[in-house]
Amino acid sequence: MRINGSTILHGIMGNPVSHSLSPAMHNSAFAALKLNAAYVPFPVTDVAGAMTGFKALGIRGVSVTIPHKQAVIPHLDEIDPVAARIGAVNTLDIQHGRIIGHNTDWLGANRALQEKITLAGSRVLLLGAGGSARAIGFGLLEAGAHIMLASRTAAKGRELAQTLNCPWHALDEIPDLAADCLVNATSVGMAPQIEASLVPKACLSRFSVVMDIVYAPLETRLLIEASEAGCQVVNGLAMLLYQGVAQFELWTGRPAPVAVMRDSLLAALAAR
Ligand code: NAP
Repeated sequence: MRINGSTILHGIMGNPVSHSLSPAMHNSAFAALKLNAAYVPFPVTDVAGAMTGFKALGIRGVSVTIPHKQAVIPHLDEIDPVAARIGAVNTLDIQHGRIIGHNTDWLGANRALQEKITLAGSRVLLLGAGGSARAIGFGLLEAGAHIMLASRTAAKGRELAQTLNCPWHALDEIPDLAADCLVNATSVGMAPQIEASLVPKACLSRFSVVMDIVYAPLETRLLIEASEAGCQVVNGLAMLLYQGVAQFELWTGRPAPVAVMRDSLLAALAAR
């Protein structure tokens, strides 16, 4: 890829961002479509200054990651209605000096799940009450799924369940729950706690589809046991990929080269 006077710049703002897989994914997509565009990391502590700078410098699109997904909202000119309901923005669409905030995390989760199951009318047991569970929960509502939420900290879990208008359960109630689909949106199973899973193996056969949003490792204990129990499984790479696909299509107006982006994510993960 050559950088020249016409290169359209994109990036990811967060703190830290050096670990991000997004530059590899988006730059491979730009290269595959021969677009004169590039995507770079922006380690940001001054959110207000960065938002002014993006407009001033003509940056076209920015991914937003931890810890800035809420902090960018007061600095937007417009926000997508679902992102506003979620209360978190992971994508900035910057054109004509205006910044529009979007959330593609829920789009990524829905697309990953919809490769295996029709969400409308399905019962989904969603584990967790953090930022990802919140985005995925709103996405499941958008798709017409029926949610049950289970999480560790009761007050936080009940609050999210109330927001999503769904029942909340303690983690020790999981063996009594049945649904079409199970989604782990907690960090349980992530390295270094790769031996951990919130769902007893004996319960897994009651779900047709099991998705884990943890992507390091790709094969979590939950997914290994779900495969052994005969479930269809979706790993965390799928959500990461499809949230990036939605960003790419928003910024470029072109269909994303999905296979290229998946391969670049796999290569970047393997190189870690
Ligand atoms: P977060 O806001 O910090 O929420 C973490 C959630 O995990 C909370 O609900 C927390 O429980 C729960 N949790 C953590 N340790 C637990 C334990 N030992 N037992 C039970 N519950 C536990 O994090 P997040 O941003 O939602 O991210 C969660 C995970 O998703 C991370 O591993 C992250 O890497 C991954 N992720 C993947 C993607 C993707 O595209 N695939 C995107 C974003 C994040 P409490 O409710 O008790 O606090």
